[in-house]
Order: sequence, then structure tokens, then C-alpha cells
Amino acid sequence: MTFAKNSKIATRDYDIIIVGGGSAGAVMASRLSENRNQCVLLIEAGASYTKSTFPPQIALGRRVGGDASTTWAHTQEIGSSKASGGLRAKILGGGSAINAAAFVRAPRSDFDRWAAAGLRDWAYEQVLPYFKKSEKADYGNDEWHGRRGPIPVHLRRKDELSKTAQAFIDAALQAGFLSNDDLNKPFPKGIGIYPLNVQDDPGNPALDRNDREIRVNTAIAYLTDDVRQRENLDILADTEVDKVLFNGHHVRGVQLADGRELTARQVVLSAGAIGSGAILLRSGVGPKEHLAAHSIHLVADLPVGQALMDQPNVYLQVFIEGDGAILPALGGKLWEQSSLAAADQLDIYLGFNHFANLAQSPTGKAFGIIACACRPRSRGKLELESADPRALPRVSLNLLSVESDIQILIEAVAMMRRIAAHEPLRSQAVSIHFSDGSEVPTDLKSLREAIVKQVDSTLHVTSSAPMGPLGDPLAVLDEQGRVYGLSGLRVADASIFPDVPSVATNPTVIMAAEYIADRIKQAGPSAA
Ligand SMILES: Cc1cc2nc3c(=O)[nH]c(=O)nc-3n(C[C@H](O)[C@H](O)[C@H](O)COP(=O)(O)OP(=O)(O)OC[C@H]3O[C@@H](n4cnc5c(N)ncnc54)[C@H](O)[C@@H]3O)c2cc1C
Repeated sequence: MTFAKNSKIATRDYDIIIVGGGSAGAVMASRLSENRNQCVLLIEAGASYTKSTFPPQIALGRRVGGDASTTWAHTQEIGSSKASGGLRAKILGGGSAINAAAFVRAPRSDFDRWAAAGLRDWAYEQVLPYFKKSEKADYGNDEWHGRRGPIPVHLRRKDELSKTAQAFIDAALQAGFLSNDDLNKPFPKGIGIYPLNVQDDPGNPALDRNDREIRVNTAIAYLTDDVRQRENLDILADTEVDKVLFNGHHVRGVQLADGRELTARQVVLSAGAIGSGAILLRSGVGPKEHLAAHSIHLVADLPVGQALMDQPNVYLQVFIEGDGAILPALGGKLWEQSSLAAADQLDIYLGFNHFANLAQSPTGKAFGIIACACRPRSRGKLELESADPRALPRVSLNLLSVESDIQILIEAVAMMRRIAAHEPLRSQAVSIHFSDGSEVPTDLKSLREAIVKQVDSTLHVTSSAPMGPLGDPLAVLDEQGRVYGLSGLRVADASIFPDVPSVATNPTVIMAAEYIADRIKQAGPSAA
């Protein structure tokens, strides 16, 4: 096959189409186009920028959450008009282009659990090389860290953090929590500093480092100018995919939201947990009754959207009297065990940040803590509103629908109180409040009620199309991301995890994309 870079995309004969150019999709496009005999198309609904053209309001590491031009409209809850499902990126680089740049991978216990449930190829020893392959870390032990991967990972020194962030770490140590020098170790219990996928951009040395540091998203790290020059890689931005097209049970391409069809021998969905789930459903891959209700032709009766997960958190604002500096935005993370955690599990984290609403504090000073039940049991659902690709799907996260998740959050709040009661925080911590400004109650009954009211998504939505062994009632994919019963269709993004990893999801999604790209390369271009 010959490749003509300037030929019309619609007339090219693709080996692989990747849908969605986010944390996973950009990795996929880069790795799969390393094979120059394979013609690859990456389709992204949002805009495409390069390292030199990313707008500063998106590229700056301390700016989190993107803007209206780089995010999707909010999805609504199933059966209600309430917003649900959290913020979603719509830009090349996806979530990695708008996130908080905390680069902490899933601990060993997550992979042990998945391997024990039948995903033997996802044991920790099997995935560790792909974590290492993705990163170029400037700290830690070579046993756990890569030095030559595309994503630069930087660990700040403690004295580079804000004074309040340092006080949080010191108070946690005073309260008896362990010191942790590397949150990316296999069992990273204790208080450590967040490693970040940021890079100093020394273009303007007059600026403070916090105003120079850029978040190195996957579009920058993996889709470099050299990669984009490849004759066998096309990137189609600002283009939404409606559904996957089949000949019987074999993939033949995709249909765009404007009705155009593009052909390929294989399709990889990397449109994120909500995006990929919705595309599968519109394509006829999902629960039979749900598809019938929307008059969608059934291709495969699979439990798409039935195992959705996120981590419940309450955002705590600690109003203080101390130092008012609010940069760098992130500080330390305490990763801990509730009384319900198994011996190898970490089911609570407290993430220090400077995203608090200072106007609510009587002193004008505050810091924020994401108090997160990071190993939850509650599962939600993803459904279609209609078969129309322009209609957003419906999402119910069902956070705290399992009682133990409430208990874990109660213990997380208690941990924060314990830390605030120790120096150097004790003498400057005035009071602890939720994000709406209300004070966190001290009696258990009121605290429980308040947590149920205040709980929010941690923006780590996963598991809309989980991997699992054949016969697992929730499984949609085999352990190489292939959709059961079909040929030529894989999913590679946050959708595929059997349950939510006990951590922020970006590095684990990137690892999973590296892992599945390698499986596709090993299988060869004709295999599906
Ligand atoms: C505000 C925010 C802060 C976060 N902070 C952190 C953090 O600090 N650390 C961390 O580890 N994780 C963080 N996360 C989570 C992490 O970024 C995500 O889990 C991760 O980016 C998900 O990767 P993905 O590839 O599954 O999906 P995404 O990165 O969301 O990529 C999906 C892409 O597919 C595109 N797409 C969707 N539907 C279609 C369609 N129909 N046609 C074409 N394209 C489509 C989207 O536009 C998007 O670009 C954060 C998330 C958010 C939103």
C-alpha cells in the first residue's frame, strides 16, 4: 500500500482508525504508526494543537479544567436533568491536556485484584514495563521508573512547595502517618509529594517558574512534529464519530456524525469512558433491551455501560491564618487505609491543592483537600438518550450507593481532622469546610448526612466497557481490549478497567494504551 499524505482522508484505505485522541488515543496513534506499513487515522472531536500552538490558557500546568472550547457540554443523569458525569475534555490530548498533571500510577494491589479475577496478563510484573516505557522520570529508583519515555515526570523538592503545603506534610508526619518518598512505588502508603507531568519552558526566563511550566499532555509527548510528519499517519480533528460499521461481525470502518463513512480493517475506540461507551451503544454493541428501546440494530448483546465507576470525594477547604501563597497548585498526597481496607489496599487519599475558594475564608486564606474514597464499590450506568450522535449520553455515577463507601469517606474526613490537630497546622488551621462553605460537622450523624449531600465525582470515570474473562457478567472486552464476539474492534482508554484504579487515572490509562498498542503490533496488521 502507498501512502499519500495529502490525499483526501476519505479516499484512503486505512488499516486502523483510532477514535478519540485523548490520553490513550494519542499514545495509540503514535505507537501504531511506528509500523510504516500500517496506515493509521486518528479522529478527534476537539481541536488539534502542537507543542508550539497550544493556547497558554490550556498549556500552563497550573490552569486546570480547560474552557468551553476544549470541553464537552455536561452530560445529565439518567431520568433527571441534573448534571452528572463530570468535566470531559474535547481536544487533542484529551483529559491529559486539561487535568491537574498529578502523575501517580495505580498501585500493585489493583493489578493483583484484576489478575485474581482472571486478567492474568495484567499482573503487576506485566504492566510495570509499560509504565516505565511511558515516562522519563527525574527521580526515584530505576526499578520502578523509566528514564527515556515520552512523558517527563518531575518531583518537586519539599522546599519548592507553598508554605501551607509543607505544613500539611509536616502535620501528617506529626500525626503519625508514614513518610513516602515515591508515590509510584508498588505499595505507596504514607504522605508524599505529587510527581507531575510538567516541564519548565524556559522561553521567558523573566517569568516565575509557575508561569512557565507547561503540562506535557499526550498530544505534545506522543504526537511530536516528527510523528505528525509520518506519511502513514493522518489526524482528523474537529470531527465527531457516530458509530462503528460492520459487515456481519467484522469491522469495516466508522460513520462520522455528519454521515460520511471511512473504511478500515480495525477500529480502536479511545474516546474515553463516556465517549467510547456511547459509540459502542450507537453501533449496536450493548444490552439488547436498551438498544431495542432506541431502535438500534443489535450487533452484540454485551453489558456496555453497566459497570461504570468513579471515586467519590468530598472537597474540604481548610480556612487558615498562615501563609497566603497559592502556588504551586499541588502539594502532598496522603495515601492510606480505612478500617475496611484489605492488608494490601489503599482506599483513602487526601490530596493537597490550592483550588479552595479564598473568598469563603474570613482570613482570605485557605487550602483544599480532595478527601477521596479511592477504592469504592458503588457502580453507575451509562445509557443513550437517543441514537442521534449529537445527543449526549446519560450518566448516573451512583456514588455512595454502597454503604461502605460512605464509611470510607467518614474515615477520610477524620484523617484530615487528625492532621489539622497537629503542628505546624494546628496553630494556623481555623476551621474545615465543604466546597459550599458549610462547616464540616463533628457529630457522626450530621457528618454522614453532609457527606452524602456534598459527595462529588473525582473526574476519574472508568469501566464503561470493562475487560474480564469470558463468562464474567460485566465483561465487554477480553484482556487485549478486543470486544467479545466481534473482529476488528478494540477499546483502549479508561473504559476498559474492570473497576476504577485506586488513584487518579491518567498514567494508568497511558500505560494501558502502551500495553494494548504493543499487543496490536505483535498480532500484525491483518490480525484483529
Ligand atoms: C479536570 C480534570 C482533572 C484531572 N486531573 C487528573 C490528574 O491530575 N491526574 C490524573 O492522573 N488524572 C486526572 N484526571 C483524569 C484523567 O485525565 C482521565 O482519566 C484521562 O485523561 C482519561 O483518558 P481517556 O483516554 O480515557 O479519555 P480522554 O483523555 O477524555 O480522551 C477521549 C477523547 O476522545 C474524544 N472523543 C470523545 N467522543 C468522541 C467522538 N464521538 N468522536 C471523536 N472523538 C471523540 C474526546 O474529545 C477526547 O479528546 C483529570 C480529569 C479531569 C477532567
